[in-house]
This record gives sequence, structure tokens and C-alpha cells, in this order.
Amino acid sequence: MRNVSNKLKAGNPNLRFGLILLFILTFSCRANAPSMLEKVERLNLKTIDGNIKTYYAPGYKESAESTSNLLHKSMQFYEEHFDVWQSFALAVIDSGRWIKITQIPYGLPFVSGPPNIVCLPANSNNTLSEIILTAMEGHELHTQNEMTHEEIVNLFISLIGFHELGHIYADAYGINFPNKWIFEFAATYFAYFYLEQNFPGHSKIWMDVSEILAEELAPSHTSLNDFEEMYVRVGIKNYAWYQAVFMARVKEVYQQQGKEFLEKLKKHQWTSGSSSGYLNEMENISSGFTDWAQKYRLQEND
Ligand SMILES: [Zn+2]
Repeated sequence: MRNVSNKLKAGNPNLRFGLILLFILTFSCRANAPSMLEKVERLNLKTIDGNIKTYYAPGYKESAESTSNLLHKSMQFYEEHFDVWQSFALAVIDSGRWIKITQIPYGLPFVSGPPNIVCLPANSNNTLSEIILTAMEGHELHTQNEMTHEEIVNLFISLIGFHELGHIYADAYGINFPNKWIFEFAATYFAYFYLEQNFPGHSKIWMDVSEILAEELAPSHTSLNDFEEMYVRVGIKNYAWYQAVFMARVKEVYQQQGKEFLEKLKKHQWTSGSSSGYLNEMENISSGFTDWAQKYRLQEND
């Protein structure tokens, strides 16, 4: 989740208004307001220097290192493939410190800035992780190193952080977004593209967990219209369901088109004004969106 109100540019002007984003800080324009990076710096955390400056709460050096390693190639990667350069820092923060710097509920990764900083929860002691752990009960995931469910959930949460980074790259790349679900879809696509090319084992875990969430979370809202109108106000669980469903389609499109999809999306001029219209436009960019919408009841009224 990000401060999206100025990111949704084309199409419906109403989108600029009324974006009540529960979990999102409204970044102040006051020149003297500290940036998130400054707030993190004031926590006096230890750091790992390197390609990506990484801050970590006591006891979480190892997980900070592994997340940092997963992202270390990303700046070069996005520059090479999309000709965009964005630098960022990373912070792995425990709940006590988290609440000192943000109103975003502990457990929901976010990217703030510029200067960009990706903030991730240090442990799975939070609502989102608990929802995912519960959904995974009774499911057996076969991972390379026989990871525990908790380890898988921690990794999955970091991957959501990559999705947040995907928003920054999608914006820098110059894609215009007509609505919220395409905005979210593109962010996941950027993150998935990077992982598939660099850490396919991790993108598989992301996908496997997403499939479980799409199956288990029993959403109250399934329509793209509701997502458009309510966005994060559908609640954490239902929001996670939507994101999992977007992920399912990202994988299919990636397999058909890879990078070309993003190039097409960038060039595309939106002409519809309705959510079914946008779905048809996406279908024209990459066929399969209509079937996907049917499978997950995305066009039905709840
Ligand atoms: Zn997002």
C-alpha cells in the first residue's frame, strides 16, 4: 500500500477524491516534517551496509540480511530491463518501534518516501501473518529447505514488501493507471517479474501461498467494483484475498507475455469509464482476463 492518490492519473477524475485509505499515511508537504527514512534513523537501529542500506531491530539481523539479499540485485535489474533507477533503503522493525513511526497497522509492509524506504515487520506476531497462518493450516507446502509455516509466512510478508516496491517502479516506468485494481496488479507484476528472473523458488512460494489464500479466505466482497469503491476498507482479510486473486492472474499473463505485457500497458491509452470496460481493455492487451474474472466472480455484485 502506498500513498496512491497522486498515482492514479488517467481516466476517472473521481479517483483523485475520496480515497480514504485506512492504512496509509498522508505524507505532509511541510518542509520540516521528517521523512520516514529520518524517523527510522532516529530509532538508532543497527544497519547492514551494502547495495541496500538495511536497518534492523535487535534480534532480527538474520532475517534483515536474507531480505536484503533478495533485493540486492533489484536496482540494477529494473534499470537494465525498464531503464528506471530508484534507490531505496530497507528496515526490519519490531512492533514497539513500528508504532512509534507510523499509523499503519503492524504487519502491513509499506514503502515510504522519497527517499524511499521499504518497511517490513520483524516477526509474524501481527494480524496479517495470523490470517495467513490460519489459512495455511492443513496445507502442505513443499519448499526447498523444508521451511516451517512461520518461515513461509515471514517470507511471504517480505514479498508483499516487494510488491510495494513494484508501485514505485511501475510509476517511474510511466504507466498510467485508470483504477485501483490495475494499479495493484501492475505492482505485483513488477515484483513477480523480478523474482521469477532472479529467485524463482521464492516466486513459487509467493504463488503457492496466494493460491491457498484465494481458496481459503472466504471473502465478503469479490467484485472489482467493490474493490474500486472500498479498497483497503474491505478489511485486511478480504484485501489479502483480492491481492491473491490478482497474483493468480499475474502468473498467467507473465507466462504468456513476460516483459511485453508491461510495455503494452505503458503504451495503452485507456478509453473506458467503467470497470467492465477496463476489464475488456485488459483482455485485449492479454487474453484471459475475462475468464479470470468469471472464475473469481469479479464482475458479480455482492
Ligand atoms: Zn499495493
